Amino acid sequence: MKFIHNKPHLIESECETIYYTDGVKIAKELQMTCLMPKYKNAIGLAHNQVGGNKRVFVAKINGKWRAFINPTIINKSDETYSTVEGCMTFPNKPNKVVRHSWVEIEHQVNARNSNNGNMFTTERFEGDAAQVIQHECDHLGGIHIHNK
Ligand SMILES: [Zn+2]
Repeated sequence: MKFIHNKPHLIESECETIYYTDGVKIAKELQMTCLMPKYKNAIGLAHNQVGGNKRVFVAKINGKWRAFINPTIINKSDETYSTVEGCMTFPNKPNKVVRHSWVEIEHQVNARNSNNGNMFTTERFEGDAAQVIQHECDHLGGIHIHNK
């Protein structure tokens, strides 16, 4: 079981692309961590928050945990808003951030050798879902709520 560390320097470099099937395994580990009672307030977790460095995060979207492997934000609203956000790496140290109202994200849903469809899919998220997606995509780029 992987625990969330509290070492900001470990989450300030960019994560690396990963093979899809390895990403699925990492996502399962991340979700196991989020389901631990001590992390009951978690709504998202990126691989570098548990000491890894791959482009994988999990997020609770409309009450359901989802895995995002090799994700990229490919479009976002012009409209932004300011809000106060927390982060599992910085317990009890929320910070003010600016977020886009909606984002479109591309992420991998099939291995390269899969014969049943596209490797990547595109999804659009709004509101709370868009906020957690932006927070976690920031993490994969080495950005967090205190260095943004
Ligand atoms: Zn965070």
